[in-house]
Amino acid sequence: MTEPFDFADELGPAKIIHLHEPRVGLRAILVVDNVATGPSIGGLRMASDVSLDECVRLARAMTLKNAAAGLPHGGGKSVIFGDPGMPQDQKERLLRTMASALRQEEDYIFGPDMGTNEQCMAWVLDEIGRAVGLPRELGGIPLDEIGATGWGVTHAAEIAAQHCDLALDGARIVVQGFGAVGKHAARFLTQRGAILVAASDSRGAIHDDGGLDVSALIKIKDEGGSVIDHGSGQKLDRDAVIDIDCEIWIPAARPDVINNENVTKLRTRMVIAGANIPSTPGAERYLHEHGVICVPDFIANAGGVICAAMEYQGATETAAMASIEEKIRRNTETVLDRARDHNVLPREAATALATERVQRAMRSRRHGLFSAAPGFI
Ligand code: NAD
Repeated sequence: MTEPFDFADELGPAKIIHLHEPRVGLRAILVVDNVATGPSIGGLRMASDVSLDECVRLARAMTLKNAAAGLPHGGGKSVIFGDPGMPQDQKERLLRTMASALRQEEDYIFGPDMGTNEQCMAWVLDEIGRAVGLPRELGGIPLDEIGATGWGVTHAAEIAAQHCDLALDGARIVVQGFGAVGKHAARFLTQRGAILVAASDSRGAIHDDGGLDVSALIKIKDEGGSVIDHGSGQKLDRDAVIDIDCEIWIPAARPDVINNENVTKLRTRMVIAGANIPSTPGAERYLHEHGVICVPDFIANAGGVICAAMEYQGATETAAMASIEEKIRRNTETVLDRARDHNVLPREAATALATERVQRAMRSRRHGLFSAAPGFI
């Protein structure tokens, strides 16, 4: 059995709150990991099988991601037990109850994640006045619609390409998971001259060495189809994208898709992580030792949370995109330089960079992990 302080280390978590309200069937958890750099931002995940362990790990990932991106926000995460496809009125009741129960937890700003969306954030905002990832009419910047994360992935790829003297113009890319992140990464990279040679989704994959039509694929996906509905190219099983020859391989779907069993099959010069934890630690080490540059997830896919933080400050969409570009280019550069100079994995360099930022912020705090109460002297 997990003991309450099993998760505790020098960075957090600062608070774990379990919520239970039988009248509406609410079971939820909030983990505020560390707020030394500011109030935490992290998504609310809704699924039947969420867990405390998952919530703690995701909250820490947000601490590192937000610190690495230089945002004035710490890391937190919340989960709610339930089927995200439940009737809307029931979902609204649960979310409003949860938000209301956490009204005083000003160290946590709700955002969307798996199982929640802009509408859910609108309910939270209405209830407690604190949420990001809002609908446009409530001041939100629709990050999946504009491709905020794919935009950041593109800049990470551009910097990584410079590190291995690769021109983006003519570079072949493979996108595993042609969804909100993957399709926009493909769109922005092909605008820079790269060629999309393969793309996959949950139903299969499509491959054409001559290049796939990205706009046509996006249209098919937006209309509810699959990449395999694309008229040209060779249809493949969804996992067959692993060994397609390319320069840039972009995982943008599930965790652990590059693992010890299949890592030797990859034929690429770089892996730019659009998805969260797409490679196992062993696979990432193997790639590093074989000269493949891996830009870690919390550096490459921070575009979404940078956009959310900008939205919270009331910034425009243009300013948010400019900030994503600036931060992700600078961070990718720093991480790859440090990895090369210290002969460590980019992930190790990125973790050290983020941890140092959090620890520096903690030193200027009276309570380390916690923020002082407003008006404290
Ligand atoms: P999404 O649901 O829009 O897209 C995921 C795509 O992957 C879909 O096209 C789906 O069909 C496909 N897919 C699912 N299983 C697959 C498989 N086994 N093989 C190939 N394709 C598969 O989701 P998204 O928002 O694009 O998120 C993708 C990943 O990026 C997730 O890991 C998410 O946590 C991460 N991420 C997303 C954002 C964001 O801004 N949306 C930000 C940071 C990280």
